Amino acid sequence: MKNKLFNDKRNRYLIPGCCLFILIIIIFSGIKANHEVQDVVQKQFNEQQLLQSRQTASGIMAFLNERTIIIETLARHYPDNEHYPMFGEFINVYNQTTDIYSIQFLDESGIVTMGYPEENTPIGYDIYETRRGDPEAESILVDTFERVKNSKQTVISRPIMLLEGELGIFIWVPVYKNNTFDGVILAIIKISDISNRLLQHNSSRFIYMIDDNGMILYDCSGRYNPGENFLNKSGLGNPLLREIITNQINGNQGTGYYFEDNAGIKRLVAYSPVTWRNLNISIAVTTPESEVDELISSVYKEQLKFVGISVGFILLATVLIIILLFRWNKALEIEVAEKTGEIRESNRLLQKANKRLLELDKAKSDFLSMVSHELKTPLTAMRLSAEMCLEDEIDINLRKKLHEKLIRNIDRLAMMIDDLLNTSQIESGRMKYNMEMVDLGEIISTSIDIIKNESDKKELTIVTDIPANLAKIPADKDRLVQVFVNLLGNAVKFSQQDGNVEIKAVEFEKYVEVHVKDNGIGIPADKLEYIFDKFYQVDSTSSRSHGGSGLGLFITKSIVEEHGGSINVESMPGKGSVFAVTLPKEPAVIH
Ligand code: ADP
Repeated sequence: MKNKLFNDKRNRYLIPGCCLFILIIIIFSGIKANHEVQDVVQKQFNEQQLLQSRQTASGIMAFLNERTIIIETLARHYPDNEHYPMFGEFINVYNQTTDIYSIQFLDESGIVTMGYPEENTPIGYDIYETRRGDPEAESILVDTFERVKNSKQTVISRPIMLLEGELGIFIWVPVYKNNTFDGVILAIIKISDISNRLLQHNSSRFIYMIDDNGMILYDCSGRYNPGENFLNKSGLGNPLLREIITNQINGNQGTGYYFEDNAGIKRLVAYSPVTWRNLNISIAVTTPESEVDELISSVYKEQLKFVGISVGFILLATVLIIILLFRWNKALEIEVAEKTGEIRESNRLLQKANKRLLELDKAKSDFLSMVSHELKTPLTAMRLSAEMCLEDEIDINLRKKLHEKLIRNIDRLAMMIDDLLNTSQIESGRMKYNMEMVDLGEIISTSIDIIKNESDKKELTIVTDIPANLAKIPADKDRLVQVFVNLLGNAVKFSQQDGNVEIKAVEFEKYVEVHVKDNGIGIPADKLEYIFDKFYQVDSTSSRSHGGSGLGLFITKSIVEEHGGSINVESMPGKGSVFAVTLPKEPAVIH
């Protein structure tokens, strides 16, 4: 039987179709999820960079705050100390505080009178003198000094170039003696010290620092020199970078991308302001976009792993389902095959039963026609003979012949009625058997005598081969005579003129076998199985040349079997038939 589930075209494409559909959904969801993941990762990366820049800015503010407070404390104590012990305090503060380049004291006229370390202190330097050659720095110094003096407040001036050629941040703290301005303590912190301590960078992560004028204070990439102004740079032809720098100058925080022309890469910039007192600078951390890509691709890899596992799982589940369906289908096939076999078998039995019914039906019709034929023929002959006997001038010899004919037909009718009665007794189980030990040879002789008349008419030779010392067997004598009369009668009836009928008995240990053989018309092989059936006749037409009820062999078989024996036949059409009767030597149980 073909595999229905998978041979059905629709079903054959159903499972792979479902798999494809699921795969397409996974791929689409994957692509959508990837976009979302990309956005989220991008956003988080920006946030992380911004946080780093904010942390760096906070670090710088804390750094400056700490140093400002130290210098302010120093300034508060200054009036209490004589000049030289104060110098000692400067040394102490310098030594205990890292990254202060110089601590100086400027008197009320703006001249450096004391400082430590001495090599970083231009003793005698007058800020009102213009000897730096840097008017902007000079004006910042003067302006800040004036402002500190007037406001009595600490001021952090915007970074300026030190005499040593490095940028520095100046913390100005006023000193008052008896409420009179006495001068300023100035602490200078080099930008390079701040960057060394606080601005972490590596080969891909750059940091730069600008002030609120756009001046570059620090650039770890080395592309821009400290002191140069960003806004004058040709790189700011790049509108994205210009936007970032403008935002920084305005003291904003945020992130942005710009394209680094010389390196040919896109960089992410995260910037945060450092607002300490009146100092406004901005810190920016820049990273190549490829780092985001790397992060995204590592997330993708994780996702791919997950999708791979999911797809694998789905495929595995599909394969398992297919295997289960195959097995289920196979089991169904086997079951269907079994059921089909059963149905075929019961169909065959039904057909056989049907055939049998048809045969029985035919037998019934044959019986009716046989009965009417077998009853009517002798009756007609009897009536004719009787009518002729009634005529007055009938010859005495003819009268005798008519009487004989009358008797023959009466016998024929009687035999017919006997057969019918016997059949009815057999069927109702009322057939009586008088069992005794009988001499089979005697029974066979009696039977031959009965059919002798008929056989003589056909001039048949009856050959007997019965051993003289044949063992007696338990049987009903009359019934056995009936058996052999039937068999011999048929042998005679179906033999040609001058034929041979042979009856022979053979004794075995437990039974005796009697063969009744003729060389008559024989029986076709396909009819052999029916000849023991009730009313069956090979030739059942009304024009048949042999009379009979079709009950003889049925009765014979029943009697033999009631004796615990059996009957078989072998026959060849045109050659003759042999009927073999087997009878046990031991008594059978008669029902
Ligand atoms: P019937 O009364 O017709 O002889 P039987 O039951 O004795 O009925 O026999 C059934 C049929 O078997 C016969 O009609 C005949 O066709 C066939 N038959 C029986 N014996 C022989 C035989 N010796 N040779 C040929 N046909 C036989």
